Amino acid sequence: MPTTLFEKIINKEIPAEILYEDDISIVIKDINPQAPTHLLIIPKKVIPKLSDANQEDQKILGHLMLVAGKMSQQLKLDDTFRLIVNNGAKAGQSVFHLHLHLLSGRALNWPPG
Ligand code: AMP
Repeated sequence: MPTTLFEKIINKEIPAEILYEDDISIVIKDINPQAPTHLLIIPKKVIPKLSDANQEDQKILGHLMLVAGKMSQQLKLDDTFRLIVNNGAKAGQSVFHLHLHLLSGRALNWPPG
């Protein structure tokens, strides 16, 4: 399988603004932010899409959500943020290495586009 863009960031082969890292995940700033705060919470394990995850990924998936809460506290986001997973090209996914988008710092309309 070809190396994903996010694997290259995880392996420090290409630069990114890394805000947090542990053995399971990495958090970077999105290069094309859609809100004043736009983070990508990425598992180190390559799971192409959320719908490709299986039971053995349960710990990883839970961990990503907990990291989101941790980042909100660390960046003082006032407990106000939105998490998004684009699953599949028709849903807007462009990088096929699972990631959560964390958006904050502006009014977030509902329903999203
Ligand atoms: P998605 O379209 O849901 O797959 O999200 C991929 C995200 O990765 C987009 O929001 C891009 O702006 C972001 N992105 C692409 N390349 C980079 C990069 N080199 N560093 C940080 N974010 C990136």
